[in-house]
Formats: sequence, C-alpha cells, structure tokens
Amino acid sequence: MINDYRFKNKINNNIMEFTFKVIIVGPSAVGKTSLLNRFMHNQFALKYKLTIGVDFLTKTVEYQPSKSVKLHIWDIGGQERFKFLHRSFYEGASGALIAFDLSRQNTFSSMKNWLSEMRSIMTNEIPKVIIGNKTDLIPEIGQIIDRSAIEQYAKNEDCLYIETSAKTGENVEKAFLELTQCMVKKVG
Ligand code: GDP
Ligand code: MG
Repeated sequence: MINDYRFKNKINNNIMEFTFKVIIVGPSAVGKTSLLNRFMHNQFALKYKLTIGVDFLTKTVEYQPSKSVKLHIWDIGGQERFKFLHRSFYEGASGALIAFDLSRQNTFSSMKNWLSEMRSIMTNEIPKVIIGNKTDLIPEIGQIIDRSAIEQYAKNEDCLYIETSAKTGENVEKAFLELTQCMVKKVG
C-alpha cells in the first residue's frame, strides 16, 4: 500500500480524482517552506522558521478545467539528526520538487546531493521539477549561478527547471501545476 500511494476516489458526476504524494527537498533556507506557504495560503514571511522533521500539507489542484487532483505535500527539515526519516519521506512519492537558492552558489551543488540521495533511495523514476528560488534577488545581486549550467544539469537529469520567487509569487503555481500535469500524464 505504502508503495502505491496513488489511489482514485470516485466522486460525484463520475469525475475521477487522484491523490498524489509530492515531496519538496533541498538544502536549508532555500525557501521550501516559503514556496509551500505561497502556494497554500498566498502568503510570505521574511522571518526564518526552521522546519523540524517533516511537515504535511494537502491541497487540491485543478490541472485542467474541471479536472482536479489532491496533492499531499511533504516538506522536510534539512537537519542531519532527522536523516533517519528520509527513507519514509521518499517512499511512495509520485513527484518531487528539488529546490536551491539562486542567491547562494553552494546550494546548487548541495541540491545535486539531494537529487542523488533521492535516486539512490527510490527504485522508481518519478516526475521531478528543479526549482531555482529567490528570483526577486537577482536584480540586486546578479545572476551568480550560470543559467545554462543549471539548464544543462536539469536536462541531463530528466527534470524540468523552473525559476520562482516565494516572495513575489512568480512561477510558484506554475511549478506545482507542471509537476501535477507530469504526474497525471504518467498514471493516465
Ligand atoms: P527552507 O529551509 O528551505 O524551508 O526555507 P524557508 O522557506 O524557511 O526560507 C528561508 C529564508 O529565505 C526565509 O527567511 C525566507 O523568508 C527567505 N525566502 C524564501 N523564499 C524566498 C524568496 O523567494 N525570496 C527571498 N528574497 N527570500 C526568500
Ligand atoms: Mg523549511
């Protein structure tokens, strides 16, 4: 059961609704929780609040007119001492967002470690979106990570690449929507 998290519910008018487990991973303070806050509540806070262990959220997404799915989103805290949670965190996921921070070069390389850990734990291939977050800071600090290198990496890893800002909301819905569409296509 846990390995087949996806299930269908028949709801009124014969509309089929899927529930997908989606995980968001990446180094600390890249904006994972903020992206979820923006997506769930259309809110943003500059104050940093550490995610402890794992958090869960549920949201219904209309991926096509009058067609929706439910996302059960798991948000992870990056602390070493919670590393034992990683296996159950990845288990049964249908899609993943892997985030880094466009204003901190080192988060791009740590994000790659997250992706390879995910690949080493998960036996099945799932749709993945790499997120370069904090685009709002680029006008201030410049493009410090080479965009073509990011795009090349995403392509090699068979991931979509989307640049977002949890602060302004730019592309946040789009990231979730595109991931949802890939997941639906995969089960459809
Ligand atoms: P997490 O550890 O990956 O969950 O990161 P958080 O969501 O807790 O965010 C870490 C810090 O970055 C917080 O102070 C946020 O306010 C800030 N932050 C998150 N997203 C953005 C963004 O898109 N732009 C800017 N400027 N700051 C952000
Ligand atoms: Mg967090």
